[in-house]
Amino acid sequence: MRGLKKLLKSSNNVISGVAAAPGLVIGKAHLYHREILYVGDQDIENEDVEEAVAAFIEAIAKAKKELTKIFDLAKEKMGDKRAEIFSAQLMIMDDPVLIRVIENRIRTEKKLPEYIVDSEISKYADMLVVADEFYLKERALDIEDIRNRIIRNLQKKRLQSSITPGVIVVSETLTPADTILFSKSDVKAFVTDRGGLTSHAAIIARSLDIPAIVGSHDASHRVQQDDLLVIDGFNGYIFVNPTAVQLEYFSEKIQLMQQINTDMKDLIGLPSETIDGRAITILANVDVTGEIAAVVVNNAKGIGLYRSEQIIEELGELPDENEQFEIYSKLADRIYPEIITIRAFDIGGDKVKIWEFKEANPFLGLRGIRFLLENEGIFKKQLRAVLRANINNNIKLMIPMISTKQEVTRVKNILADCERELREENIPHSKKIKLGVMIEVPSAALMVEEIAAEVDFLSIGTNDLIQYIMAVDRGNDQVAGLYQEFHPAVLRTLSHIIKGCEKIGKPVSMCGEMAADNQAIPLLIGLGLKEFSVSPSAILPVKRTIRSVSFSRAEALAEKCLACSEEEEVVSYLKSFFEFEHIPRTRTIL
Ligand code: PEP
Ligand code: MG
Repeated sequence: MRGLKKLLKSSNNVISGVAAAPGLVIGKAHLYHREILYVGDQDIENEDVEEAVAAFIEAIAKAKKELTKIFDLAKEKMGDKRAEIFSAQLMIMDDPVLIRVIENRIRTEKKLPEYIVDSEISKYADMLVVADEFYLKERALDIEDIRNRIIRNLQKKRLQSSITPGVIVVSETLTPADTILFSKSDVKAFVTDRGGLTSHAAIIARSLDIPAIVGSHDASHRVQQDDLLVIDGFNGYIFVNPTAVQLEYFSEKIQLMQQINTDMKDLIGLPSETIDGRAITILANVDVTGEIAAVVVNNAKGIGLYRSEQIIEELGELPDENEQFEIYSKLADRIYPEIITIRAFDIGGDKVKIWEFKEANPFLGLRGIRFLLENEGIFKKQLRAVLRANINNNIKLMIPMISTKQEVTRVKNILADCERELREENIPHSKKIKLGVMIEVPSAALMVEEIAAEVDFLSIGTNDLIQYIMAVDRGNDQVAGLYQEFHPAVLRTLSHIIKGCEKIGKPVSMCGEMAADNQAIPLLIGLGLKEFSVSPSAILPVKRTIRSVSFSRAEALAEKCLACSEEEEVVSYLKSFFEFEHIPRTRTIL
């Protein structure tokens, strides 16, 4: 990230957007402009009315056929659950009320069927566009796709979906169908002007492992056909016609990533321990279900963080208790006999919201456990689903954004209530579940011993902890320079947490990004950390670093770093440590 920051400072050919699917690629731009369909409002003669109705029925049948093919392709590529995006579209086209209303309007208003289709279906889309909830806004695009599909068939126009293989598609927006169809042409990446992390195009790109940047505002206007682009799907940057320096920087990164992938395979099966034999556990952070495969392949010792709010993002709504029960059961089964740590919904802040609540400072507002305690009904459904799914005792429950011990006590009481209710209702469930908390708020870090005494395990969320210690919004570029993971204030807080947990005898892991930072690993081991939870792609690089560190020398390094007064001093100690100890610099990458 440091090299990237330097590169960004001296660049004026960069467009930034939301990093929606990770990856780094270089390729040519293909500008995709969705065909604009003009709809006239001409009257039709009385004797042509039935023909117009028949044309509409035929067009809707053809549209359904097209979408069914896409649905099948999506099932094959992404699995049944995610492909449901398309079954929802198909259901709308099957809606007898909608069909009847359109037929009736053609008969009574005697206008061209495409005019009626446009006006009727647009009502749905317009309703969604003005919706407060972000996901509903995103769904407007799915409706637009249905309208265009029917109108195109009425106008007997052909669908254009094939493109030159291996390009980067740049577009104002992409419908789910566009995204899946383009993936057939081995598209290298997607860039869109509009859309957020919850747009269906973003979800599909993530499932298919295609790097994507959404919400770039005007990329489709600033990029020309065949421009050379570098897409950094880890950080959300598009470099347009990169300079020689930029090209060299990214080509090296890509090479390094490929190299890591090949080298790392040898590490599978080898123990995760320092050269002087201290065992370090590597767990995985999982955002989407598809990542479980990588967790299993890279043989992590289970899942240290499952961000359950991601389910809401993907489904676009809050799943009910039974839906959650099914999801958690499947996850727990897939990872068995290892453990999965399900984090209760971390709703609010800059993350998913179930409904809009206006807050001047969302990061300091109704987030994580604060939201759940205010909305006990939602919380209880999740707790019941987790208890029901924990039949094989391989689920742990983790609570985000704890700032006081009192919150932990309230959680324990609610959890006990859920257990009692399930027992009274005779619903199979586990009587006892391991309960843990995230330490990501400074007050919880300072009171770690008191909090640790109340729970079974703890996990340090450095992404938030650093932002709250340094008072820097983790997503705000303007203050990014102050987001210093190696600042002594951060290191001393980490040391306090780890020592506190050790004293009380409770295991502590780290699931924030810092745990996956190659440069941070020796220092963290030296501070006494024994459990790292990292994204599936970082499991093997982290193992490699662990295996080249000496615990005793890492302890001495940590002691020196804790005594520093500035981040710079710490970074220079780390640099010399890496050189002196010959530790491979695998993943300072992105
Ligand atoms: C963290 O804050 O470090 C963390 C792991 O949680 P999230 O990034 O989901 O807030
Ligand atoms: Mg967090």
